[in-house]
Formats: sequence, C-alpha cells, structure tokens
Amino acid sequence: MGLTAELRVAGFRPREVVALLRYKRKAEHCKKVMTDALNDDWVYCYKALCAVSRSFAVVIMELEPELRHPVCVFYLVLRALDTVEDDTKRPAAERAALCLRFHSLLTDREPDGSVWSSSLYGTGAEKELCMKFPIVVRCFSELRAPYRATIADMARRMGSGMAAHIKSVECDSVAEYDEYCHYVAGIVGYGLSDIFTGSGRESPHIASRRGLSNSMGLFLQKTNIIRDYLEDIEEGRTFWPRDIWGQYGKSLESFSEPGNRKFALRCLNHMVTDALRHVPDCIAYMHQIRTPNVFNFVAIPQVMAIATLAECYNNGGVFEGVIKIRRSLTAKLVLQTRCMDDLYTLFFDYAVAVLGRVEDTDPNARVTRKLLNEVIDICQPHVSPSPDLIIPNVLSIVAFCGLSSYVLKRRQDHFDGAVFTWRSAGGIMEPMDMLAIAALFIVCIYMFGFFLLPYMSMMQKEEVRRLEHEGRAPHEPVAPRVVTLEG
Ligand code: MG
Repeated sequence: MGLTAELRVAGFRPREVVALLRYKRKAEHCKKVMTDALNDDWVYCYKALCAVSRSFAVVIMELEPELRHPVCVFYLVLRALDTVEDDTKRPAAERAALCLRFHSLLTDREPDGSVWSSSLYGTGAEKELCMKFPIVVRCFSELRAPYRATIADMARRMGSGMAAHIKSVECDSVAEYDEYCHYVAGIVGYGLSDIFTGSGRESPHIASRRGLSNSMGLFLQKTNIIRDYLEDIEEGRTFWPRDIWGQYGKSLESFSEPGNRKFALRCLNHMVTDALRHVPDCIAYMHQIRTPNVFNFVAIPQVMAIATLAECYNNGGVFEGVIKIRRSLTAKLVLQTRCMDDLYTLFFDYAVAVLGRVEDTDPNARVTRKLLNEVIDICQPHVSPSPDLIIPNVLSIVAFCGLSSYVLKRRQDHFDGAVFTWRSAGGIMEPMDMLAIAALFIVCIYMFGFFLLPYMSMMQKEEVRRLEHEGRAPHEPVAPRVVTLEG
C-alpha cells in the first residue's frame, strides 16, 4: 500500500497520520545510516531483511552494530529455514530431511546448489533469500565465535523440531502445540537472550531464565497462528490443537464456513485465551532489559502482538481473511513504545479493551477474564492517567490562527499611515480588541505549556537515551596506552 493510501486509511486519526510520517522518516534514516558503511554482502543481508520482514526490519536496524549483525543473520537463517518448513508444495520427507541438516549449511565449506536446491523453496522475497543464502553464510562466518555457536545451535534445535512436526502433520494436545511453538519461536527467544548476554549489554540472568525467553516466543507465535488461520488452512497447514478446536467443530476447516460462525468464534476466543497465559512471563522478561535499543527490539513485537490479539478476539474476520493492524497504528505503537511504563500502559489498555468485549455466553469467559485481570493487575500500578489532549490541542491551533489574524488586521486598522496606535481617536482601546489580545495571550500560554514544554522534554529524553546508547556502543578494542620512559 502506498503512502497516500495509508494516509487515507489513517484519515480521521491525526495522531496516527503524524506517527506514520515520523515512522517513514525514521525507517529511511535507519536504512541509510546502516547501509552507508557496509560491504556488499552485508548490504544484501539488510536489503533481504527489509524484503522479508516489514515488522522486524526497523527494530533490528535500530540495534547497535555489535548486536545488529548477529541478530540480522540469525533472523535470515531462521527465515530461510522457515521457508523450507512452510513450502507445502515440496514433498514432506524432503523438507523434513533438509530441516534436520539445515544448520550444517552454515558451517559446511560449500553451501552451494549441490548441497541444497535452494531455488526450489518459497516464493517472492523468501525464494530470493533461499537462492542467495550463500551470502548470508558468508556474513555468518564474519561473526564472533560465540554468536556463530548460538545461531548454529538454535538452527539445529529448530530444524529438528520442525522436521518432527512436518511428519506428524498436526498438534493433538495443547502440550504438543506448546512444544511446536517452542521449537519455532521459543528457541528464537533463547538465541536472542544468549546474543544479548554474550554482547555484555544485558545481565547473564536474562539468558538463564529460559522459561521467560520461551514465553516471549510462544506469545508471538501463537498470535501469528491465530491470525493466519485462513492462510494456513488454504496452504494445507494446521497448527490449532485438536484438543481445543475439537470442542467446537468436526474439523478445523469447517470454521471458515459462515454457518459455523458461532462455534468458530468460541474456538477463536479459546485460542486467544490460551495465548494470554504467556503475557505475565513476557512482561517479566521485558522488565529485566536494561539497554534501550534492546528494549525496543524485544518490546515492539510484543506490543504489536497484543494489539493483533485484541483485534482478533471475537472477530469473525479471522475466518474470512487476514486481520492486519493499520500501518499508521503500527507506526504509532512503535513510536509509543520507549520504556517499561509505555509497555505497561499499552498492555493495560488492550487488556481493558478485550475485557469489555468478553461475553457471558462464551464458554471460556471466566478464564479469559481471570487472565486479563491478571495482566491489568500487573500493569495498573505503572499506568499514569494522562488526559487525551488531541481535541484541545487542535482547537488551540485554530484559535491561535484566528486570533492572531484578527489582531494583525486590527493593527492595520489602527495604523494611520504614520503613527501606530491602539487607541482610536482620543478613546481607550476597544473592548473587542482587549478581549482578543487577552485570549491570544492565554492561547499562547496553553501552547507553550502543552506543546512546547512536553516536546522539549521529550527531545531532551531522546537525546539522553541516544547518548546513553552511544556511550555503550563503541565496542572496538581500546588502543593500548604507550608509556615511554625518557631520559
Ligand atoms: Mg513455519
């Protein structure tokens, strides 16, 4: 969708329009800063990243270089592996075998066509990624050894989990569903935590609390599995566990028939409730993160996930197409997620919104409400009530324009060609003029207090964050100080 079309969608939401424009500028800036100083292989990797992932590219590019390269390669490797897993047009046995040995493509000397018929998998940007995978392997080999070990190990574990799932076709129990999500997403959580800890940016504590890292992945994965119901059904993939959908229908496919909508919605709400189980762990994980750009990287996808889940809850659209969050809302959420308090506020808002939509007739209503209230209780102490000033702000701009043009016009009226005077011939200033000047004065004070000061303090905070970031960023070895003894 082009920018104009996106702006039209965001049309009546001024905040989102502003956010979308700021976000576009930020994304362009990130891309430029990053690709300026890189060789062709790395430029390809980041271009491929932008092509295959709209949502992750910007948050990855915002990471500092020490983390950015390993995370980018990690993402591309797993994305190529996922392309193999997902390509149901290829025989299952072939895909399973390739998933199992995919990690060895990273370390074997000749990752060429004879080892892997890479042109056979995927479509569009993913197909190109698979075909040019040797470039990703070259960049992989430039990473520090601990990062290489983490990425290869996680690709091995994920590949073996995927191979098992390709063979078993669908999940029966919720435990199997959790296990599948662990292999394809929980493992990503492990790998990222290891990379953060290995870089020295985050405490080793983060990598040791495996349960929390796993939940981070499970929450994102389950949200995607819920949202992609129709796409997966059409592609011949099933992830929703039989133990859940079996309570509401004879087959998972039957939920897309309009006649089954009532039971389909109950099943959907059950799936959303299951995903909500992971939210407290996710909040606990993010609470431990100290580095601002790492926080953005982990928190933004989580915020997008809760927003998507809230959109999907009790929404028949899931069975008709793909529920997508408006790009302008995405932009607003990305810019709004800067610290833990922002995260608490957003999770609180979405939990309250979903709570308001839980119907008493829903068989899972009690559990859903309990889980949502748990999230609300965690977030509430950190949420500060801030009034929405968008309408007063717009009115103040209109008032400022109107009043200042009135005052300027009156100034012209009182100018006799040589001398300017507010006093009309011999009398005092006219009451309307006095009122207009007083009103303009009040509007100026309002704008100073509610626009300028908050904007200045926000800029100051961003500057502090940037300096903090840069203060930590230099990771080049410090040149040894040479002491010469003279005389
Ligand atoms: Mg997949």
